[in-house]
Amino acid sequence: PTDEVPVEEDLRSSDTAAPGNNTITKVKGVFVVLVRNRELHDLRWSLRQLEDRFNHKHNYPYVFLNDKPFSEEFKRTISWITKAPVSFGLVPREHWSLPDWVDRYHMLEGMNDMVKNQVIYGASLSYRHMCRFNSGFFFQHPLLDEYEYYWRVEPDVQFTCDIDYDPFVYMKERDLKYGFTISLKEFPETVPTLWDTTRKFMSKYPEYVEPQNTLDWVTNDGGKTYNMCHFWSNFEIGKLDFFRSERYLKYFDYLDQEGGFFYERWGDAPVHSLAVAMFLRKEEVHWFQDIGYVHTVSQNCPSDPEMQKKCHCDPKKSVDRTRHSCTLQWTQLPGNV
Ligand code: GDP
Ligand code: MN
Repeated sequence: PTDEVPVEEDLRSSDTAAPGNNTITKVKGVFVVLVRNRELHDLRWSLRQLEDRFNHKHNYPYVFLNDKPFSEEFKRTISWITKAPVSFGLVPREHWSLPDWVDRYHMLEGMNDMVKNQVIYGASLSYRHMCRFNSGFFFQHPLLDEYEYYWRVEPDVQFTCDIDYDPFVYMKERDLKYGFTISLKEFPETVPTLWDTTRKFMSKYPEYVEPQNTLDWVTNDGGKTYNMCHFWSNFEIGKLDFFRSERYLKYFDYLDQEGGFFYERWGDAPVHSLAVAMFLRKEEVHWFQDIGYVHTVSQNCPSDPEMQKKCHCDPKKSVDRTRHSCTLQWTQLPGNV
């Protein structure tokens, strides 16, 4: 029976199959969900579909994180959705507060300008903490210590196709570091100095830049400016070691010292994406074209007729077909995939 539930022990061992064969059957994978108590019912919507489309066959564990303690109601209600192990964690205060080197006045000035220019979340301090946390700290949470791959999930998203294989295993078998469904262009007002800061980082630490990098995806003028392309990080399947690596930690720290998470509104999506572009080869990154996924106004929907049999989405609405997407440019990069 395909519905057999592996015991928890099985899920946590990452033993590979016979030597000389790179068929991997178990991966230490985990769903990571940063969420607020008041988003409980929006989250049920996401998890119900994720369970029905995929996880009821696998029972990968969930880690829920919050800057405030989860309510009893939250924990109880979530436990109804899955048979998989669930744990609830608090974000440490030092990962969700203003660093002392950030000038409060300068930050408020920046927020004011963004409000005038009607930049989304322009005045929100909590949004900035969220972006900084997802950029530099989520992978350091002790509840994630035992895991090798994570899959990020948010409230109010949809999974619109059956996922009849195991994306964690898929990643591990191919030694992939980063997987996405949607790519888009960032609002330039949120990242005015992110590119120049990243360029300074690269000239200070050229040894960290991958010789076969994918920087051509994020610039159209040989590196002078950022073209705003980024992977949408509300869906991500990634290798935790990539973020825990010295080069990534150095990069995050360099950005953090500049204060742009607060003075501007640097998103974790462009930060992760620029790191991917600097540090990874195209072969290490995968577009999960076959995972039907909806977040707010954008979706990924496979057009392959065989895939469509297992979906409830309209392939004409898939964002990769529009000029807002950067996925075509990604697939056209040179590389062996
Ligand atoms: P958007 O997708 O960029 O519009 O931003 P969201 O509001 O969806 O936030 C991104 C993720 O961070 C979601 O999983 C939210 O639940 C979570 N999030 C955002 N702000 C907070 C916050 O202040 N506290 C907590 N615990 N989670 C947050
Ligand atoms: Mn969201």
